[in-house]
Amino acid sequence: MTTKCRKCSTPAIIYQPYSGLHLCKKHFFEDVERKAKLTMRQRYPVKKNDVIAVAFSGGKDSSVALLLMHKIFGDRPDIRIVAITIDEGIDGYRNFSIERTREMTAQLGIEHIVKSFKDEYGKSMDELVTEKKMVENRYSDDKKEVGPCSYCGVLRKKILNKTARDIGATKLIIGHNLDDEAQTIMLNHFRGDVERMVRFSAANELDGFIVRVKPLRKIPEKEVALYAYLNDLPMELTACPHSFGALRKEVRRLLNGFEVNHPGTKYSLVRGFDTMVPLISEALNVSDMKNCQICGEPCNDDVCQACKMLEKKAVE
Ligand code: SF4
Ligand code: ZN
Repeated sequence: MTTKCRKCSTPAIIYQPYSGLHLCKKHFFEDVERKAKLTMRQRYPVKKNDVIAVAFSGGKDSSVALLLMHKIFGDRPDIRIVAITIDEGIDGYRNFSIERTREMTAQLGIEHIVKSFKDEYGKSMDELVTEKKMVENRYSDDKKEVGPCSYCGVLRKKILNKTARDIGATKLIIGHNLDDEAQTIMLNHFRGDVERMVRFSAANELDGFIVRVKPLRKIPEKEVALYAYLNDLPMELTACPHSFGALRKEVRRLLNGFEVNHPGTKYSLVRGFDTMVPLISEALNVSDMKNCQICGEPCNDDVCQACKMLEKKAVE
């Protein structure tokens, strides 16, 4: 016997253990779109004449984020939507997805900007991974080596922010889903690095820093994947050759296990974190951001993470 949708009598295509609902395709789409709209409205409502930049890698999450922005705001003549793709320079991986991003933005008629690590930093990710990248070690005077994903992420974020600012964007959409958010919160707890995450979560229209908005942060990864599949969106199947992130994989396994036994765990983690952010950010005085002495980008130190990782020196 087919299970019926809780909201109509059509056969259900998904069961949400955390809500107890069976939903048909139409009501599943409505649920995803409602959650994305609500998340945006609660924290960073879209205003008249907003310029919405979307970080668009071509994976399922950013493709869904871009499609949702198009569906929700595409008909508003006062709102400009611009997709920004960063080409890290990873042969056999990113070059394929860049093609797909071009196809999708052309189909939707969305402005599209592609920026590369090579143009911005003089080196591609394939070249950067051959060099050791060191950061400060808070437990000793020695420096410690960081994995490729750590600096890839830092360098990508910097170009995204700069490009979004250059086009006059008022919001930068990031396709992180509920699983990404819950994993990052746990990871930062494990690393004792809650401060950095709180700083950036709370950063609100600071000089030079474009507000990062995550419309999918209340939508589980499985549902983002299903939404992408049902809308025929690009799904990244090739793995990045530099990815390792062993700790994140462990945290992901751990949280997925908890979610099976205790549905709603990921939502609780994100909700708890959101409650803590205003309290911690007040204590930290988050508005106290500086500008990097080397590149001028906003950061919370004298030199930003990207410049530290690229070992750039200040001009004497
Ligand atoms: Fe960069 Fe890591 Fe993503 Fe590869 S998996 S693109 S190295 S962040
Ligand atoms: Zn810098």
